[in-house]
Amino acid sequence: MIDCAEGTQVQLRKNKIRFSKINHIFISHLHGDHFFGLIGLVSTFTLLNRTTDLHIYGPKGIQEIIKLQLRLSNSWTNYGLFFHELESKESEVIFEDEKVLVKTIPLKHRVYTNGFLFQEKTGERKLNLDAVQNYEIDTCYYQKIKNGNDITLEDGRIIKNDELTFDPIPAKNYAFCSDTAYDESIIPIIKNIDVLYHESTFLQSEENLAKKTLHSTAKEAATIALKSNAKQLILGHYSTRYENIDLFKEEAKSIFPEVYLANDGKSFEF
Ligand SMILES: [Zn+2]
Ligand SMILES: [Zn+2]
Repeated sequence: MIDCAEGTQVQLRKNKIRFSKINHIFISHLHGDHFFGLIGLVSTFTLLNRTTDLHIYGPKGIQEIIKLQLRLSNSWTNYGLFFHELESKESEVIFEDEKVLVKTIPLKHRVYTNGFLFQEKTGERKLNLDAVQNYEIDTCYYQKIKNGNDITLEDGRIIKNDELTFDPIPAKNYAFCSDTAYDESIIPIIKNIDVLYHESTFLQSEENLAKKTLHSTAKEAATIALKSNAKQLILGHYSTRYENIDLFKEEAKSIFPEVYLANDGKSFEF
């Protein structure tokens, strides 16, 4: 999960997302609209008898805040709660398993802030069943083939892997950038991204406010998407001053074609 604002638990329930699926929480920065729901969620996990470890990644100080709240309310967790505090101004790898790699995207905001880049790893090759059966290859070699190896038949013939497999589903990547002023220094980190979420608190008509508060406009978000050669852009974090969020899409589309609007409970498939 990325960020945990007030109301997160309500939204999880409303959207039927199982609490137990959440094992890693990435907090971009310590403004309330990005983490004031965290202590509530941490406590609820205890009530739900969670036993699985929970990992929280966020700016230095997040451990102190959560632990202080737990201590003064005489609360505790009956699961392992691990903090990974961030303070680097350079992009760094903060999580990796066999499926995904997570890197920070240092952002420019009023307090120390990171976006997060999620890089899926390429999966194993897909078995061409017709081909392997044709060569009467024993099933015990299937995993070896899926890992990309050639196969030597009993008669000594070597069968090249590309004859026995299809390319795996291409790995996708996703970048989450909120909150931030317009900042071209993130472009090398998110180059060729499949899906870019970029905040657009304001429209270009409020450009001065965006500059003052270190937020972005829809046009600026679209410019980052264009310059980083993103495939799709999702906008969000709209100021409540605007009644019609379609204006954000319109403005961004004048710069970059593939624009989607994030909203409460909305999900996207790519
Ligand atoms: Zn903020
Ligand atoms: Zn915010």
